Amino acid sequence: MKTPDEYRESLRDGRVLYLRGRRVEDITLEPGFAVPLANGAADYDYDADPDLRTYIGESGERENRLFQIPRSEEELALRVELMRTMSPVSASVGALFALLNAEELLAEVNPDYARNVRALYERCRDEDLRIAQLVTDPKGDRSRKPLEQDDPDLYLHVVERRDDGIVVRGAKMHITGAALVHEFIVLPTRGMGPGEEDYAVAFAVPANAPGIKIINRDSVSEPLSTFDYPVSGAHQMPEGLVVFDDVFVPNDRIFLLGEQRLAAKLTRKLGLWERVLGLAGMVDRARLLVGAAQLLADYNGIGKASHVMDKITDLIFYAETLDMALQSAIHNYKTTPSGMVYPDGKSINLGKYYGASNYHLMVRNIHDLCGAIVLTLPTEADYRNPELTGDLEKYLHTHDGVTVEERMRLYNLVRDITADTRGGWDMVTTLQSGGGLAAQKILTYRGFDMDGAKALARRQAGLDD
Ligand SMILES: Cc1cc2nc3c(=O)[nH]c(=O)nc-3n(C[C@H](O)[C@H](O)[C@H](O)COP(=O)(O)OP(=O)(O)OC[C@H]3O[C@@H](n4cnc5c(N)ncnc54)[C@H](O)[C@@H]3O)c2cc1C
Repeated sequence: MKTPDEYRESLRDGRVLYLRGRRVEDITLEPGFAVPLANGAADYDYDADPDLRTYIGESGERENRLFQIPRSEEELALRVELMRTMSPVSASVGALFALLNAEELLAEVNPDYARNVRALYERCRDEDLRIAQLVTDPKGDRSRKPLEQDDPDLYLHVVERRDDGIVVRGAKMHITGAALVHEFIVLPTRGMGPGEEDYAVAFAVPANAPGIKIINRDSVSEPLSTFDYPVSGAHQMPEGLVVFDDVFVPNDRIFLLGEQRLAAKLTRKLGLWERVLGLAGMVDRARLLVGAAQLLADYNGIGKASHVMDKITDLIFYAETLDMALQSAIHNYKTTPSGMVYPDGKSINLGKYYGASNYHLMVRNIHDLCGAIVLTLPTEADYRNPELTGDLEKYLHTHDGVTVEERMRLYNLVRDITADTRGGWDMVTTLQSGGGLAAQKILTYRGFDMDGAKALARRQAGLDD
């Protein structure tokens, strides 16, 4: 297992990074990456919570739970618990498990593909590497297929086949933590049709492979006080537009090459691990919103009003329903032929859809309880200025038992996660990350036992003798 310092050092590998219009030569020296790097490095602190972050392996040695293949409900639950405590840099290791989920499917088509997946898993485990999952292509005009686009590179594709590998060109967008991981797992974003064989390609490449350029977009553009921004001041992760400018991929890193009918199946299988983390994140966020709403009500003296209790109860329903979906996904786990346990897709999709489609309403509830001060609250700098402290202590007072500093910190939390830059970012992320609303609906529709439901309707309608 690497130490936090070894992780930092490992990213100084010549990768080509851009941030805010500038080329970043050394990620460890760039202030704009300081918080994300600290978040990623903290995941390598295995002493922080050894019982969760490590486990005793079959050899009797302590091993990294991040790479433990779950073989029981308990191990699956621990895995989800672990991911909840880690930054997105480590959370995207789920992409590896998604590939392991598809191992048998790949082996049927080409045993080399399955061997390559296993080899990647073992390399990442043994070298303690972090991974990003690169699925989303730029996609150009959404009504057109890859070959119908004005530019053939709007979907990533193979431009050359050699004896020892392939050369690919294109881009993948919105890639969480792309600048801070070691390996990229690249997958098709949609099913491919006949003639689109060059677009049906999946593989792994190191983040510093020649021809790769990562254009980063961060959610904040300056260092933030953790008093005024308690969440986004301490937790940041840039998304990357990753450009593949004729990148060579050796044969032993390819998982799919031209088998276009497999592309859609693979894509569907692979979203699962990403969505389970999305769902776990929603459960945590929902609980946070409930707690913040109740504290706001307590601090402001409105806790007994019926409309306030009603709004908080809506938030509780939201939180509990999401938690039920997550627990159901773990409890109703499925098992691959090789014995790996994975979460139930139906529970994940229903939970993800419910969480994403109701999040904006829940934010509306909390905004309604906040009042305007969620936007107009003076900053920490004002509060600490002796010329102003007295005024703020006087005019932000509500009742004994609540200090003005406590009230300010709570409002700053709510502002940060719902009403400021990060709040807007979260609104969009909740909807889009892991696929938009339509994606969850399509998966749920396809997975539903329609024949059983139709048979029931036919019987009740007297259509069958
Ligand atoms: C913060 C964040 C992090 C992310 N991290 C990652 C990551 O790490 N890796 C990764 O691969 N992706 C990542 N994503 C991307 C995410 O998976 C996509 O945003 C999502 O799949 C939607 O794709 P899109 O953004 O291109 O939206 P679009 O596809 O443009 O969708 C926008 C709207 O158009 C509709 N639409 C699109 N195509 C059609 C069509 N043909 N017919 C009818 N309607 C259509 C959609 O249903 C939707 O309503 C991330 C996204 C966010 C916001």
